Amino acid sequence: MKINIIIRFYEELNDFLISGTRKKDLFIDIEKDVSVGTLIELMGPPCSEVDLILVNGQSARFDYILQNNDRVSVYPVFECFNIESVSLLENAPLRKIKFICDVHLGRLAKYLRMLGFDTQYENDYDDNTLIRMSNAHCRTLLSRDKKLLLDKKITRRYLIKQAEPADQIREVVEYFDLKNNIMPMSRCLECNCVVQTVLKEAVESRVDQNIFEINDAFTECRECRKIYWKGSHYDSMMLWIRETVD
Ligand SMILES: [Zn+2]
Repeated sequence: MKINIIIRFYEELNDFLISGTRKKDLFIDIEKDVSVGTLIELMGPPCSEVDLILVNGQSARFDYILQNNDRVSVYPVFECFNIESVSLLENAPLRKIKFICDVHLGRLAKYLRMLGFDTQYENDYDDNTLIRMSNAHCRTLLSRDKKLLLDKKITRRYLIKQAEPADQIREVVEYFDLKNNIMPMSRCLECNCVVQTVLKEAVESRVDQNIFEINDAFTECRECRKIYWKGSHYDSMMLWIRETVD
């Protein structure tokens, strides 16, 4: 007798799958009494590359015996991976990925922050600084410079192929499977810090009177003290996000 399960592989594990089965839910029939570890290896990825398996939202061991209608999510080894909130995120990619952009990717860095992704960027970082910060803070180094990315010291890298910033952000969101992790307006565009809710009364003297009167919700960057609100720029930003990465 066969049982039905749904399985999905994340990130680099997709490289082990045959084409047509990557980055999507796979509905498969298997024999009874098969362990999840056996199934994973039959499909391609070696268990040594797997860091975390969720079955119906709960973490599971390789010897877990699959049951009818189980939903399985399989995540790769990733040393900076934050697994604290694992069981809350059943079907979303769990990786808390962080980036550092080279000096030519300022617009991409801003777009990544706009979507809520932790992105280090300064326009005066030299190659050594980029590599050192990428490694020290587990940030994936984004660059269009093949020569820079060939440096063997770099542990996380991605070569941006597109030339236009709007195409680059689409490329990064697709490649790293980030669509479900987008959190617009959650990060300061200037300094990359997560913004925090601030009481309306606290910003009265710091924003224009008409902005203060027509908005009730404000956030603030604790680093540069910049105030954010959902004004007309917010609507156009959301439209831009939908058109660009949806
Ligand atoms: Zn800031």
